[in-house]
Amino acid sequence: MKQPSELSYFDAGSLIGVLTDQPLDRMLDYKAPKGGVFLGAFVEVPLGPRKVIGVVWGSGKGGYDLAKTRTVSRVLDLSPMRSEMRQFLARVADYTLSPLNAMLRLATRAPGLADPPSMRKVYALGEAALKRETAARTRVLDVLRAHNGLRFTKKELADLASVTGSVVDGLVKLGALLELETPRDTTYPKLDPMMAGLQLSDSQKSGSEALRISVATQKYATTLLKGVTGSGKTEVYLEAVAECLKQGRQALVLLPEIALTVAFLDRVEKRFGARPAEWHSGVTMTERRRCWRMVGEGGAQLVVGARSALYLPFQNLGLIVVDEEHDTSYKQEEGVFYSARDMAVLRASLNNASVVLASATPALETWANAASGKYARVDLEGRFGVAELPDMKAIDLRAEAMEPQSWISPTLVHEVQTRLNKGEQSLLFINRRGYAPVTVCRACGYQVGCDDCDARMVEHRFHGQLICHQCGKTQPLPTACPNCDVEGRMAAVGPGVERLEEEATRRFPDARIAVLSSDMALTARALKERIHTIANGDADIIIGTQMVAKGHNFPLLTCVGVIDADLGLQGGDLRAAEHSFQLIRQVAGRSGRAQKRGVAYIQTHQPDHPVIQAILEGEEEAFWQAEADQRRMAGVPPYGRLAGIVLSGPDLKVVFDVASYLSRNAQGLHNIGAEVFGPAPAPIARVRGRHRVRLLVKAEKTIHIQPALKAWRNSVKLPRDVRMQIDIDPQSFY
Ligand code: ADP
Ligand code: ZN
Repeated sequence: MKQPSELSYFDAGSLIGVLTDQPLDRMLDYKAPKGGVFLGAFVEVPLGPRKVIGVVWGSGKGGYDLAKTRTVSRVLDLSPMRSEMRQFLARVADYTLSPLNAMLRLATRAPGLADPPSMRKVYALGEAALKRETAARTRVLDVLRAHNGLRFTKKELADLASVTGSVVDGLVKLGALLELETPRDTTYPKLDPMMAGLQLSDSQKSGSEALRISVATQKYATTLLKGVTGSGKTEVYLEAVAECLKQGRQALVLLPEIALTVAFLDRVEKRFGARPAEWHSGVTMTERRRCWRMVGEGGAQLVVGARSALYLPFQNLGLIVVDEEHDTSYKQEEGVFYSARDMAVLRASLNNASVVLASATPALETWANAASGKYARVDLEGRFGVAELPDMKAIDLRAEAMEPQSWISPTLVHEVQTRLNKGEQSLLFINRRGYAPVTVCRACGYQVGCDDCDARMVEHRFHGQLICHQCGKTQPLPTACPNCDVEGRMAAVGPGVERLEEEATRRFPDARIAVLSSDMALTARALKERIHTIANGDADIIIGTQMVAKGHNFPLLTCVGVIDADLGLQGGDLRAAEHSFQLIRQVAGRSGRAQKRGVAYIQTHQPDHPVIQAILEGEEEAFWQAEADQRRMAGVPPYGRLAGIVLSGPDLKVVFDVASYLSRNAQGLHNIGAEVFGPAPAPIARVRGRHRVRLLVKAEKTIHIQPALKAWRNSVKLPRDVRMQIDIDPQSFY
């Protein structure tokens, strides 16, 4: 076990405070075990009849019968939690108003941490020469010779050589193979930062040099790395990773989506000669455990992961990259409500580490922080290889002769057909899963809604079901109206991605059409392969949801059609314009990534809408400036503070009463200059049978609202069944 840098040590029998992962709002006192224990050590402690995991957080409180205080059962074989990590967890807990033990749960999300270090058998070349060679035996030895010095488990070796395990056993008996015991959690293969990268363009060079210097100084700094999709942001931040590895420090790259991870691993392997550690919901439990342990022991130099990788126990973190930093999936909206982007900045500042926020369309927060000088900013020029973004053209749906029950305008049909004739790819984008958003009865007008939610049921023809996108509840498609019992008049209204596919198939019967939507429930690897074959020309028309907007490369694509650009403009929430702008630009950026210039067609009923105008004219800075001015005037983020409070419960009146009480008794908040709005029914007023009521707390940017919010929250004892969620810096307002 490695010793922590701070040598706070508690002698056997002394009173210590332990933070457990149990839902208790305080530390528990224990006696240090025989041999004593370091501050930060992971321990197992008795709690009632059970044993639970905890971390030694400090001295115990004491104040009661010491004789009754129980003793730590055992110190786990894990590197103690470092003081920066403890500080980080405490700061996130304070900022998000979350209990510390919820933070500890986030920081220990790997199985088997309390298990003793386990061993496994691996095989290496032995000394003895074979007297009698067989094809199978030779294959096994060849595999080992080909992977000079590498060791494999029996299964790996047998699979690679296409033999049965008994061939391996036989070779061991003959002395041609050695059987060795090694710890199960092995270090990750070494990445080599000295390998040569690509020849960078001038703009890429100066960008990567700025990032490299920032990493080399080993001081905290955040840089916005801005460049259109395809400008080489990944290439550039890999140079920052290289510098970090050269310094002997660890790097973390956060990606918004698992599908992107797989492609990224290949690029890391090309650049550094080996694959990094992975941390996301798609990795096996064994790998999770290995990753967690190796990050803590320094056996992993680079981790690629989802937002929760922020809570891994890095030993010496030097760089965090948040790729596609504007992506909404970086905001966790359950349990601990946090923004991984913002918490990455916090974590780096506690570790003297650098942060790179990469995006073609930064979040307004990030843009504003760069504008005010809080973050540095690096701009990459144009695209690598080709100079320009696609042309943007609006298709004014008011002027198009749209056929009933169709969503692809004649103009767009013509453009797609032209590409088909030339053997080029088109992408049709609609940000709506399923077949149709509404199922209505033509006889009585009834719309099928979810029984438990204030939401319509969405038809998914692919699954043959109606699905509630709020709670996931499913029901069969009714043939008769649930309201008026009339048979055969239920109709689908509006388009979803499946319906768009149907229309495309009808209009372009000879085209090869591929759908990319999260509904397809492919594994990360299968999805990557799918995307790969599509990118290589296996489809003429790609039909996709939001998923296609995220960083994938489609070099043959020259035409993008945004089916309904108005969808995002109606949101009514603070970030509707921003998100719409980002999404449409990202999608448009899929086109013309290789040699051929692309065009993006935006179907809209409002070609004069400021957001659509900004997109068409490519006036990004103007768009952000205008959006920033509006937010500044309204005093909302990033120029003001917001906290969203959602109360929910099965009884609407009870929930409303609690909310009203809170709203009327907010003196503590008023005293610091904060305002409280509401209560109001939430936009989605019922989810899973629970009524939802919102309050909004608003304050000036300079006000630190958390202490007053906390006191306010604790001033009411919630009725049973009523839950309160506080979301600091809310992203969505549903
Ligand atoms: P971004 O992250 O900005 O979308 P990437 O780093 O993925 O851009 O680059 C887009 C494509 O261009 C990738 O296939 C990448 O390998 C290639 N590319 C970028 N820069 C260079 C370069 N300097 N030399 C060769 N290929 C490059
Ligand atoms: Zn529902």
